[in-house]
Amino acid sequence: MLKKSFLTAQHTLYYGTKARHFNTTNFTSPLLKRMLWKLKEMERASLPENDLKEYNELLTNMETIYNAADVCLEKGPCIPLEPDLSEVMASSRDYDELLWAWQGWRDTVGQQLRPIYSRYVELSNKAARLNGHTDTGDSWRAVYESPTLEKDLEQLYYEMKPLYLNLHAYVRRALYHYYGSEHINLKGPIPAHLLGNMWAQSWTNIIDLVIPFPSSTKMDATMAMKSQRWTPIKMFEEADKFFQSLGMLPVLPEFWVKSMLEKPLDGRKVSCQISSWDFYNGKDFRIKQCTKVDMKDLLSVFHEMGHIQYFMQYKDLPVVFREGANPGFHEAMGDVVALSVSTPSYLHNSELLITQIEDYESEINFLMNIALEKVAFIPFSYLVDQFRWKVFDGRISKEDYNREWWNLRLKYQGICPPLPRSEEDFDAGSKFHIPGNVPYIRYFISSVIQFQFHEALCKVSDFTGPLHKCNIYNSQEAGKLLG
Ligand SMILES: [Zn+2]
Repeated sequence: MLKKSFLTAQHTLYYGTKARHFNTTNFTSPLLKRMLWKLKEMERASLPENDLKEYNELLTNMETIYNAADVCLEKGPCIPLEPDLSEVMASSRDYDELLWAWQGWRDTVGQQLRPIYSRYVELSNKAARLNGHTDTGDSWRAVYESPTLEKDLEQLYYEMKPLYLNLHAYVRRALYHYYGSEHINLKGPIPAHLLGNMWAQSWTNIIDLVIPFPSSTKMDATMAMKSQRWTPIKMFEEADKFFQSLGMLPVLPEFWVKSMLEKPLDGRKVSCQISSWDFYNGKDFRIKQCTKVDMKDLLSVFHEMGHIQYFMQYKDLPVVFREGANPGFHEAMGDVVALSVSTPSYLHNSELLITQIEDYESEINFLMNIALEKVAFIPFSYLVDQFRWKVFDGRISKEDYNREWWNLRLKYQGICPPLPRSEEDFDAGSKFHIPGNVPYIRYFISSVIQFQFHEALCKVSDFTGPLHKCNIYNSQEAGKLLG
């Protein structure tokens, strides 16, 4: 892995240095100008050799800490995040058991990352400055090519905030009914470990506690998938079929041979962090996912297959152009299709839902499910990089990492830690993208544009009716536009 990172950097440095020899001011070809402009951005490859070595080792080290971490039961085995700790967070309704998993994960991951993260920040900033940026946050924002990015995002956030406040108040009341006044303050923030997810970023797992009409249809296909003996492979085949129904590209044979679509049964340790890969040879595209047979993973299969579809759509472009229009587009590609997959119409047609849902109560249940996924995610996806942008430009100093993280969690998500935290902890580090060095604002942007895309696709496919009922399956017009 380290050797590969080194070779990649050498390659980037070679072409980047050549590109920097050109003054493109008077070039007439916008294509050539843009190509050279992109090549000039060398990121970490511009670091002096010693710094580069240290930086690569740091990144590998941080990711290894995250991937290898597990939490030990008092008398018994140690369990990893995937699938075990995530499963506890999703299905346990025991306050103390949830607290054990929540705290255990942070004790093992966050505390190990704390002493090395600030060095990563230094080296990363140094690389950004060598590329003409003021700091790493500045270089991350530059890919959006918009001078008003931060202001635009803030405005979007405030436009959507009332929706989140409604959901927050409603869910807090439901948690109050379940956990009681000793744990839930009806006028205060929600304890972070009660929302069905390790980071409180998606709340769909607690639908049973908050469902508006418990006796009406719940829009969850998990039971049907299990009773019909769906497999992970079938889930990917369904996603492939959906894209093909739109007239888009089928995945290539290599995908089925070389991907890892399930956790290996032979017991070898693998990283279950879901990812999609473009090998840049025009035919090798893969997914790594420890897929479970349930509705939540079905939607995430569509998300990943969106990345694969995007890779295939631009496979014949010059290598420097093989990326999304911006990273938010890449994240939205699969999610926009998944919006159709969530609809009663699609689930019914795939025999995952027996009856066509027409009644008001079932419809509200369905919309609550969507809200628990999409609305709950708005503040989290916004704040992760609010935090890092401030860390990178120095507004948050390394002595205050944890306090400032929780200030943002409180301000935007209205949640609080369920037990006292200190500057020994580094709770931001318990989320993959922090040690993984992956920017996060792309998910916030995707959350907005996927609905705009959905609306446009439904319009060209001649759908009439409320947007949340639109299923673009089989629409060649939608496929043409999305492509
Ligand atoms: Zn993604």
